Amino acid sequence: MTAVSAPATGPADLRGRPGVPIRLDGLTRRYGSVVALDGLDLDIAGGEFLALLGPSGCGKTTALRAIAGFDVPDAGRVLVDGRDVTGVPPSKRDMGMVFQAYSLFPNLTVAENVAFGLRVRRRPRADQTARAAELLELVGLADRATRYPHQLSGGQQQRVALARALAVAPQVLLLDEPLSALDAQVRVQLREEIRRIQLELGITTVFVTHDQAEALSVADRVGVMRDGRLEQVDTPDELYERPATAFVAEFVGTMNRIPARRSGGEVELLGVRRPAAGAAPPAEDLVALVRPEALVVTADQAGAARVVTRTFSGAVTRVLVALAGGVEVRVDVASATSGDLTPGKAVTVVPAERPVLVVPEEPA
Ligand code: ADP
Ligand code: MG
Repeated sequence: MTAVSAPATGPADLRGRPGVPIRLDGLTRRYGSVVALDGLDLDIAGGEFLALLGPSGCGKTTALRAIAGFDVPDAGRVLVDGRDVTGVPPSKRDMGMVFQAYSLFPNLTVAENVAFGLRVRRRPRADQTARAAELLELVGLADRATRYPHQLSGGQQQRVALARALAVAPQVLLLDEPLSALDAQVRVQLREEIRRIQLELGITTVFVTHDQAEALSVADRVGVMRDGRLEQVDTPDELYERPATAFVAEFVGTMNRIPARRSGGEVELLGVRRPAAGAAPPAEDLVALVRPEALVVTADQAGAARVVTRTFSGAVTRVLVALAGGVEVRVDVASATSGDLTPGKAVTVVPAERPVLVVPEEPA
């Protein structure tokens, strides 16, 4: 790895190398009877920011550890820039990794933490100092160099961890739920900052998270994982607008489940007919998956549905409505027009005029 890494000389070095592509080819990893990775295939472009998204236990960390070399798969290969690195130890892979939290060395200053990888590689002391200063500048902590980790907030500590991972100018940046221990506001701020830095450096990045809003907001593409496999890999817009499976549809964004029936070539729901998006399942009884912004709610004295709650959030207000049959749906309304949708109000709800995604009704 030292042969590949350029010496740390100045700001140009930060953006020295273009990102390298990564290919995961049939990765399989079992722990006893648990299949953590089940033939995982994935192509990540050079310089791409890819998020791996999925529920707890779906294999995200295992996949990241296989890329880093901390875990050796039972089958399959990891290729970096076309080179098979499956058997290469982590220290020779030229990757930087940031973990969930509290991974800094408590007895080292901020600057010493950042310079740690360079010290291990026996870089000259002056290079270590200069490089640490440069990275701390990049993450906005230049004035905290002599502090110790316990003197920093959680968000600042994760910035230091990011600077430390980047200090050795790795070819790949791996992040395993780096924001999950932080509070909401800091999380949003820091994810934007990670994205800014990633774009600035052009470094190929894999960001693991179980938080769909986080994945959609920062990544070029998102891979949705389930049971050790990828269900869909796509841009955030595509995932949201055209989910390939019901699992993706319900994991990404908010989704209403509304009872529906097949009706000729169409789908009947909420008393109206809409075309099916894609092929409708053969069953008669279906469930329509409809986004909150794809429902229209109108105050209507004769309406059989009732407003339950009304949640204001700036430009948009989300209205929870109980349908006649007891099913509750979430509807997003422009706040400016939502004034009369108060709790208890009689309303009607219809789907917007667009194709509707349907799945078979789950057996009880
Ligand atoms: P995620 O990061 O998506 O939450 P993991 O990759 O950590 O998921 O785990 C995937 C599956 O493999 C889980 O069922 C988990 O319990 C199992 N697993 C992970 N690591 C180990 C291990 N060291 N020993 C046994 N089972 C493990
Ligand atoms: Mg994990």
